Amino acid sequence: MSEPFATKKRISPILLAILLVTLLLSVFSIFLGFNYYLDGDANSGSTYMILGATTLALSSYVLFQTRRRILKLALKTQPLNTTILCEKCGLKNVRDFQRGDYIFKEAESCPKCDEKMMIASIYREVKEKRKPETRLG
Ligand SMILES: [Zn+2]
Repeated sequence: MSEPFATKKRISPILLAILLVTLLLSVFSIFLGFNYYLDGDANSGSTYMILGATTLALSSYVLFQTRRRILKLALKTQPLNTTILCEKCGLKNVRDFQRGDYIFKEAESCPKCDEKMMIASIYREVKEKRKPETRLG
């Protein structure tokens, strides 16, 4: 449970509340079963314990699945690109974003005219799934 708050926020609060209630109920069931055991009622005791253990297993499974989905989403983020422009000859160069890049920052020399190039834009590449176009004619 060392995840930053940013990822925690993505879990819907309703789901979190349901999970919390389920977890509490399962712990309560196990506790109740334990009490029955201490009272000598092994039958009721095992019933409550099985109930509690099952609920606990189910809720932790759901929690695990939710966490995995969030991690998958986080990994899917598209890479950042940096566009470098030569003001003299108009040469445009696109490369991966590097730490410290900012717009109007001086970049490496232009391979064409040897003039200092400048970072023109930084953008995130969005690869959208396009529906196949239906063409008429
Ligand atoms: Zn140039």
